[in-house]
Amino acid sequence: MVNRFDVIVIGAALNGLAVAVALAGPSARRPLGVLVVDAKDPETFASSQFDGRASAISASARRMFEALGIWQELGALAQPMNEIIVTDARPGGESRPVLLNFGETDMGGRPTAHMIENRHLYAALYRAARQSSYISFVTGSAVASYGFGPGLAEIRLVSDMAYRTSLIVAADGRNSPAREAAGIAMVGWAYDQAGIVVTVEHELPHHGRAEEHFTPSGPFAILPLPGNRSSLVWTEKRADAERIVALPDNEFLVELQERFGSHLGAIAVVSSRHSYPLALFVAREFVAPRLALVGDAAHVLHPLAGLGFNLGLRDAAALAECIADAAALGLDPGGTAVLQRYTAWRRFDTVATAAAMDGLNRLFGNDNPILRLFRDAGLMAVNRLPKLKSYFAIEAAGQSGDLPKLLRGELL
Ligand SMILES: Cc1cc2nc3c(=O)[nH]c(=O)nc-3n(C[C@H](O)[C@H](O)[C@H](O)COP(=O)(O)OP(=O)(O)OC[C@H]3O[C@@H](n4cnc5c(N)ncnc54)[C@H](O)[C@@H]3O)c2cc1C
Repeated sequence: MVNRFDVIVIGAALNGLAVAVALAGPSARRPLGVLVVDAKDPETFASSQFDGRASAISASARRMFEALGIWQELGALAQPMNEIIVTDARPGGESRPVLLNFGETDMGGRPTAHMIENRHLYAALYRAARQSSYISFVTGSAVASYGFGPGLAEIRLVSDMAYRTSLIVAADGRNSPAREAAGIAMVGWAYDQAGIVVTVEHELPHHGRAEEHFTPSGPFAILPLPGNRSSLVWTEKRADAERIVALPDNEFLVELQERFGSHLGAIAVVSSRHSYPLALFVAREFVAPRLALVGDAAHVLHPLAGLGFNLGLRDAAALAECIADAAALGLDPGGTAVLQRYTAWRRFDTVATAAAMDGLNRLFGNDNPILRLFRDAGLMAVNRLPKLKSYFAIEAAGQSGDLPKLLRGELL
């Protein structure tokens, strides 16, 4: 007999777990039966060897974590961002003119974002999913085939186990095999850039200040973590990133120190090095019969504003609300009405955000002196206009637009 679930989520990483917990976690008022499938073992995701990144979690994402009951755990591990500065950094120079500066007052007295290491995000979401008797896991075996029938969908694993559902949620990452099986194309391009990610410890406190230095090879971000530690996202051309990541420790530190500067005193690398190829891709459709895409399966963004997972959480919250509303009325949770509402809610917002990130990367990834003059003058003008600045701060806090209930802190 083939087991049947209301919803099957493929992918037990950040976005897949977020969908599962939103639909059937301990705080869900009308939990559905959810199966989460992953080729890997999510028990191993809470290690910095697996994912060395840290994520900037927006104010609305924090409210979603509060509603899901995991903020208590995460808040203790989070570093508030009290200030954000953006500079235009010339290569090799210590002088970095500050173009934009957001302080706490620009953010309505509350931090726009918190920095949290991804290992803690995986652990908290996984623990919440494990606490629910409505969420089942089958891990360690990849999905090998997909059937998207008119009334039901089916997956078959490499282990030959098969499962049926009303809706498959593909949270299976940027190369999404489920998306491919449904014949949905991606529009976009790979950048000739990779993001080197490391954690450093520094002598002096960061006071919760995040720094984004735009260099011609791409942004160099210093993101505050609890204690005298910061997570770095250091963008370089792919070939340079490969060379830098392979350097011996002492040479790596010399290259790093040159870009980091000396304002936080002596620094030491305290994590392994990771390198992520950067790209911009948006799926041509976010849905197909009996299928919805979320997270990187639907969109891959340049990480310069730390928005990728935040957009994924918007997907998760919107999709969960569409499904929960339909289920409460006794309607098909994977039916056309649910899929249409989800895609109308999420696709335009995603395309607009992806285009803005691409524009910023192109505008700053260029050392043309005339372009530099205009972009610097433009950003300095924004810096002197408090209303415009608070508009940007509200955007960055993820508080604009038609927010799903969970992102407003309300339960489903
Ligand atoms: C350098 C960098 C910094 C970033 N910083 C930020 C930030 O500050 N803030 C932010 O919001 N975002 C940030 N992001 C983006 C964010 O990290 C990603 O958007 C997010 O991690 C994507 O998660 P996901 O769950 O969608 O996909 P993934 O993490 O790719 O997970 C996909 C899962 O699907 C499983 N899977 C795949 N195929 C199958 C199959 N056939 N069968 C079963 N399982 C399968 C995989 O095993 C995997 O566990 C950053 C990204 C980068 C590269």
